Parts: sequence; structure tokens; C-alpha cells
Amino acid sequence: MADLAEFARARGVKYFMISYTDLFGGQRAKLVPAQAIADMQEDGAGFAGFATWLDLTPAHPDMLAVPDPEAAIQLPWKPEVAWVPANCVMEGDDVAQAPRNVLRKLVAEAASEGLRVKTGIEAEFFLLTPEGDQISDPFDTAEKPCYDQQAVMRRYDVIAEICDYMLELGWGPYQNDHEDANGQFEMNWEFADALTTADRHSFFKFMVKSVAEKHGLRATFMPKPIEGLTGNGCHAHISVWDTEGKVNAFADLGKDLGLSDQGRHFLGGIMKHAEALAAITNPTVNSYKRINAPRTTSGATWAPNTVTWTGNNRTHMVRVPGPGRFELRLPDGAVNPYLLQAVIIAAGLSGIRSKADPGKRHDIDMYAEGHLVTDAPRLPLNLLDAVRAYDADAELKEMMGAEFSASYTKMKMQEWTSFVSHFSRWERDTTLDI
Ligand code: ADP
Ligand code: MG
Ligand code: MG
Ligand code: MG
Ligand code: MG
Repeated sequence: MADLAEFARARGVKYFMISYTDLFGGQRAKLVPAQAIADMQEDGAGFAGFATWLDLTPAHPDMLAVPDPEAAIQLPWKPEVAWVPANCVMEGDDVAQAPRNVLRKLVAEAASEGLRVKTGIEAEFFLLTPEGDQISDPFDTAEKPCYDQQAVMRRYDVIAEICDYMLELGWGPYQNDHEDANGQFEMNWEFADALTTADRHSFFKFMVKSVAEKHGLRATFMPKPIEGLTGNGCHAHISVWDTEGKVNAFADLGKDLGLSDQGRHFLGGIMKHAEALAAITNPTVNSYKRINAPRTTSGATWAPNTVTWTGNNRTHMVRVPGPGRFELRLPDGAVNPYLLQAVIIAAGLSGIRSKADPGKRHDIDMYAEGHLVTDAPRLPLNLLDAVRAYDADAELKEMMGAEFSASYTKMKMQEWTSFVSHFSRWERDTTLDI
């Protein structure tokens, strides 16, 4: 196991940022000087869990965030600091509802069945002014701004800096572009084991926000930050391998779309649990302004509305872009990096166990011809419907862990209640003169 004190000496690290992710995706950290890291590596850094979104009370004992030394990353933009994702422990036991623990448990469960899930994600983001209410580039106004060469070059300093860092970290970045909304970008790097992807996803968000701030901008992963424009998706590409990680068990060139029976069953699990899954993949009130959205100014939302799948066609919830993997297009930028991977594994494993059938492909343009599909469920229309669908899905709740599921649904219901008790301008405008 890597020794963090040694890591610090070898690389000139002065501080470790011991970081964990709470149920709402917030990253919480303590900055620990290298001199104190040896004890912390063993015992963990102490936190009052109630002070973050973990469904703990002020009376709970100290929660300890025990760093995972194998996952330490030196900040490329501040090399005297290293970020280390941590596992939450209380009185010697893993805190069951803590997102990284939920994922670790599912990774272990998959491994016990000889399966190793590998994923790649596409975490889209906007670059805004520091106040967060406008696109930072006043010239970025095209109706179809996707891949805009001029606009991406106007943000070259930010994008290239982040990509250089990913190269330095060895993530295998391979492309960067201006996305479909004004002010929106996407940066892609190579897929990896689910836990590694979750840690990188967390670090990517931290890095993009930090580099944007350095350049006097504000980055957001909010699902729909600007009305009328395409929102921030966080598509996940999924494949399952043997324990060695050498043979892709989803690949079978003899089968339809090059997807093996195991791949179809995994996909079947995703399809079967999709409405419940949305409570995790689309976890905020704002998420439902990205899915089920009216057409955007660019011509398409690029987000799904129904539980359907197809081949290489981007208008459905699931796309099979090539043999041996599929793309889940449902998740958005608000998704919790650990819960995203966890819920994919949970639904997929349940599909494999029950040999679930994903149903028939719909090889149509869902945006134009979706009304012709009458046999596919619609995705939840809002957070309340999604949380209720999750709560009604006993199998998925069990797979994600009973304690996690109880905490998550409770806290998301509180969030919904807080939202609906907010007095809005819309209410006044539509009700004042009734
Ligand atoms: P697109 O925009 O066409 O959906 P991107 O190139 O933006 O695709 O992202 C594709 C993601 O899928 C990358 O992270 C890539 O590494 C990942 N990927 C490619 N092959 C696999 C695979 N077999 N299993 C899991 N992820 C994969
Ligand atoms: Mg104190
Ligand atoms: Mg992409
Ligand atoms: Mg994209
Ligand atoms: Mg995609």
C-alpha cells in the first residue's frame, strides 16, 4: 500500500486534502499538513457528519475519513497539495450510506461474480461569468455552436490547461470540444474501472472549477443552467470485463450490435430499473428541465424522454455506439460520481442475475417520431416522481443497500419539500388575478 508520508517526501507535497463526497455530491475535505499524514492515513481525519449531507445527527460519534492512498492525486495546478479520496468510517465500521462505500461494496459484489465493470463518462460543463448568470464569452452566440472552432479557441487557455493536466496525470485524454450549447464544453478521457472513473470524475469537477476560477470564470455542471439551451449531460459508457480486465464480456461480434448475451442482460437491468435509476442519475429539481425538455435553440436537447434503446442513434436513453459497450445518456451534470457508478452496477447485476431482456430496439428518431412509440415508459417528469419510483423499486433499493436507500430517499424528499414550499414568481404571475 502506498505510504502517503513517503509520497509527500518524494513529490514535495506540503498538504493532503482528505476528501469525501456526501449524498448530495458535495466534496468535503480537510487540509492535513504532510507532517501529520502518517497518523491520519491510519486513523482517518475526523468530521462531524451531521454538518454535511449524510443523514447523520449531531449526536453521532466522530466520522473518520480514511484516505485511500492508492487514489492520491497531486494537484497539477498546485503541486504542493495532494487530493486523496477517503472512505467514511464510524466506530470501526464503514458508514453504509456514504457514496464511496456504496460503490466499493457493489464493485466487490460484481467481483465476487467474476465481473469487472469499466466505464467512461462525459462530464459536460459551461464556462460562465463569475456571478454564474451569463456565458463568459459574449461572442459565443451561434444558433448551432457545437464544435465551433473559433469559440473553442477563445477558451483555449482554460481547456488546454485542463487537458495538459489530464495528460500529466496519465488519464489518456483524447479530445476536447465546444458542445451544443453556447458556453458549453466537453473533454474526454479514457474509460477505466468504475471506482477509478468515479474518483477521476470527482477530481475532474474539482479541477475544472479550480482552473476556471484561476482564469476569472465560473464553471458549472448544473443540468440546465440556461433556459432554452442544451443542458449538461454526463453520459456513461459501460462494459464488463473478466476479473483480469483483459476480456470484454460485453463483446460478441456474432450478436446483434456486437453486444453479448451478458451485455444484453446488463442492459435489460438498466431498462427495467430506469425510472428508479433517475432518482440517482438525475438527482436535482433542475435535472428535469434537461430531460423531458422542449426543443432547444440548437434544434435538439440531446437528452432522452423515454426508456428506449437503439444502435448508433443519439435520441434514445441508451445507445449502442459500437460492439462491446453501451452508452447511458440519462445522467446529468448533477449526478454524484460514486452513486452514478454504483447504480449502474446495481441495476446491471440485477439484470444479469435475472437474465433481463432489454426489449426491442427502436431504430427511429425519438425526437421526431417518439409519439409513435406507445409501449415504452416515460422517464419521471420531476424529482418527486423519480424519488417515488426509486422508493417503489424494492430490488434496486436492496442492491444499493437498505441504509443508503432509506437515507437517500429521506433527504431527497426533504429537498423536494423545500423546493415546493418556495414561493415563486411564476405563482404570483399566474395566480394573482384569479
Ligand atoms: P460520444 O460523444 O460519442 O458519446 P465520447 O468519445 O465523448 O463519446 O466518450 C466516450 C467514452 O466512452 C470515453 O470515456 C471512452 O473512453 C469510453 N469508452 C470507450 N470504449 C469503452 C468501453 N468498451 N467501455 C467503457 N467505456 C468505453
Ligand atoms: Mg472544531
Ligand atoms: Mg462525447
Ligand atoms: Mg456531449
Ligand atoms: Mg455521449
